Amino acid sequence: MDRFQPFENKIWLSSPTMHGDELKWVQDAFAKNWITTAGENINELERIVAEYAGVKYAVALSCGTASLHLAVKLAGEQLYGQAKPDCGTLQGHKVFASDMTFDATVNPIAYEDGEAVFIDTERDTWNMDPKALEKAFELYPDVKLLVIAHLYGTPGKIDEIRAICGKHGALIVEDAAESFGATYKGKQTGGFGDFNAISFNGNKIITGSSGGMFLTDSKDAADKIRKWSTQSRENAPWYQHEEIGYNYRMSNLIAGVVRGQMPYLNEHIAQKKAIYERYKEGFKGLPVTMNPFDAVNSEPNFWLSCMLIDRDAMCRQVRGENQPLYVPEKGKTCPTEILETLLKYNAEGRPIWKPMHMQPIYRMNPFVTASGSGRGQSNAYIDCGEAVDVGADIFERGLCLPSDNKMTPAEQDIIIEIIRSCFE
Ligand SMILES: *Cc1c(COP(=O)(O)O)cnc(C)c1O
Repeated sequence: MDRFQPFENKIWLSSPTMHGDELKWVQDAFAKNWITTAGENINELERIVAEYAGVKYAVALSCGTASLHLAVKLAGEQLYGQAKPDCGTLQGHKVFASDMTFDATVNPIAYEDGEAVFIDTERDTWNMDPKALEKAFELYPDVKLLVIAHLYGTPGKIDEIRAICGKHGALIVEDAAESFGATYKGKQTGGFGDFNAISFNGNKIITGSSGGMFLTDSKDAADKIRKWSTQSRENAPWYQHEEIGYNYRMSNLIAGVVRGQMPYLNEHIAQKKAIYERYKEGFKGLPVTMNPFDAVNSEPNFWLSCMLIDRDAMCRQVRGENQPLYVPEKGKTCPTEILETLLKYNAEGRPIWKPMHMQPIYRMNPFVTASGSGRGQSNAYIDCGEAVDVGADIFERGLCLPSDNKMTPAEQDIIIEIIRSCFE
């Protein structure tokens, strides 16, 4: 006999939370027939997001990936000049990038013909390790661009990272796709880089069903991105093109949905924070820790709650390229067992984002840890009991928990009990 009943309605990792008022702005766009890539919703959304994020300019785009692409392209053009039409602006140059992130953070480096150098993760916030970044500048002193993400809505070590980049004259592209609304020393993420991106994808803290934004304090940069995102049309009576263009602008309908979500952003953050704290409380006594953050300097948006299993409470788990295996053991568990158990009861968790240096597509790219290069170490990540490849270690022992803001406290209590049962 099973101890738990499967949830009747699936408990999601993070699904859209709509409120109804979003429709008002969509209908307004219909009524005025401004349903394409111009209109009041776009203008108004750009204004309120810039104001909220504390940046001077916001450009509404089709998705966060498009925003990151144009941000990286612009950084490349500023650093290395305008590229020929058949070549990306990075022109083969190396770029430092977060390693434990979603691949949309780093793919734009490849779109622009650059080479990503992945920087290992630190334990305090699960973001880019400033020590590894310093090591990377020792190894590759010519690098002039950094792309950095704030994983799961937790701000990284922004001051340290900015100081290192400042010392080396490197530009920063900040990927705040997961961290919209999170602050560091009272200032919003998405405003710390030279060029920044946020996302309104369906699973993010607020959503437009899709959509993203480019944020910056530079008027020139904002104007350029607006031009590139609308096919790079020159000011002429006909279609005149001096530069390669893109069709990356946000639709006024999507902008209406996001405009309707904006008033609920802080409420969503409060709900996510309550979920995080309930897990933290509920896991007391288990050999686990929650995804950590810098409680003195930062306030995450708590987009996803995650846990990390203590090493000595891990049963054996092996992950191939596409499938995991584990050996159940009394008193121990592993992410695979917990995820399978959650799924059995109709709840969705997810493995930690698999680090980029472990991805087949990026297997040949350099990877730098705090102790130097992480490549070529046969026994992946244990060196005298210290994990030297922190990303691989968190990937092995960590998982993302169901973090949907529509999950009730009673449902979350059951999730907690299900997870506790895995340790029996
Ligand atoms: C979601 C996400 C993106 C991409 O945003 P889209 O709007 O889906 O294109 C980029 N980076 C990170 C870290 C993300 O989580």
